[in-house]
Amino acid sequence: MDLALSPEQAAVQQLARDFAEREVVPHAAAWDRAESVDRGIVKKLGALGFLGLTVPEEYGGSGGDHFSYVLVTEELGRADSAVRGILSVSLGLVAKSIAAWGSEEQKRTWLPRLCAGEAVGSFGLTEPGVGSDAAHLTTRARRDGDAYVIDGTKMFITNGTWADVVLVFARTGADPGHKGVSAFLVPADTPGLTRREIHGKLGLRGQATAELVFEGVRVPASAMVAPEGKGFSVAMSALTKGRMSVAAGCVGIAQACLDAAVRYAGEREQFGSPIAGRQLVQELISDIAVDVSAARLLTWRVADHIERGLPFATESSVAKLFASEAAVRCANNALQVFGGYGYIDEYPAGKLLRDARVMTLYEGTSQIQKLLIGRALTGVAAF
Ligand code: FAD
Repeated sequence: MDLALSPEQAAVQQLARDFAEREVVPHAAAWDRAESVDRGIVKKLGALGFLGLTVPEEYGGSGGDHFSYVLVTEELGRADSAVRGILSVSLGLVAKSIAAWGSEEQKRTWLPRLCAGEAVGSFGLTEPGVGSDAAHLTTRARRDGDAYVIDGTKMFITNGTWADVVLVFARTGADPGHKGVSAFLVPADTPGLTRREIHGKLGLRGQATAELVFEGVRVPASAMVAPEGKGFSVAMSALTKGRMSVAAGCVGIAQACLDAAVRYAGEREQFGSPIAGRQLVQELISDIAVDVSAARLLTWRVADHIERGLPFATESSVAKLFASEAAVRCANNALQVFGGYGYIDEYPAGKLLRDARVMTLYEGTSQIQKLLIGRALTGVAAF
């Protein structure tokens, strides 16, 4: 693994950094208070090609490698996790799944719009009663002539009320486990689909998280993604790469914590000089710095494995587990450096901590990552 970025990768990193500094950072606190980022940000992400990274150009994507994807995701996570999450889901979980598993018609219908930011995707796996144990989801899709009729409820769906298309997972077979699950692309304006935004989140407040209720939602049989019964494979392959994206977002949070803590420690004076000169403050800062570096290297390793065609599922779980826990530690340490001001939302540390906290929960909790890593190493499933 070569840790030096190519000129193209360095350019895309700089492009993303400049964009985030100009278009995201100045608004992030206000969007957090308003519980909504400005929707115009989606088209801007599309115009720069960020929403098409790694998607083939023939379908409207911008190509590029997984390092570039990680670099852009990190920069967006550094600026505002709410914006980063829009990309991680619409591109990372939905567009990439369509590119990998979709029919030619599905690719031509959805990818150009998703990559341009003219449409937003959401990923409907979790249900009110089914989270970690996703293989036992209960949403049903019943065959009716040339169509399927979907009934069920999906919970905590990122981009839920913004989405133009939902990649939804539903049970088509009699089998109670993963073999009975199929995937469908459902246009969000299909009759019978209602969406309710969930308010009061601890963090990621700028992002639209929703409950989606499917009542007799009728879609043509051609809306199925991949063969019948392969839906769980679609979901798991999306999440395996998705964990790299979450990890990259966490590296961004951790880097933002480091930047903020160093800056504040140099400005804030106590006992007659900047607190940066106190050894215990330097300990907080160096702990953050070590976490940033370790999380970044683990995340880059996943991109490296993907690019070289090596297995990457366990590496992805390792990166997601470490980076998400590290982001929470870093934000907590940064808040400590800020003292009482860290507790006030005029300063960045509180939002970083609130946004970081969900990273150990979604796309597989830390406990689930440990079980995945343990299963890969021992060959024994201990779920
Ligand atoms: P549970 O599965 O009920 O877990 C509760 C606790 O039990 C956790 O600590 C868990 O680690 C532990 N636990 C469960 N099983 C085991 C076990 N076998 N061994 C040890 N411990 C265990 N889902 C989507 O489908 N699409 C989205 O876009 C999406 N976005 C989200 C956005 C936000 C802001 C949030 C909060 C969630 C989102 N989710 C989404 C859902 C998320 O993926 C789930 O919340 C997550 O998978 C955990 O499921 P759960 O909340 O039902 O917790």
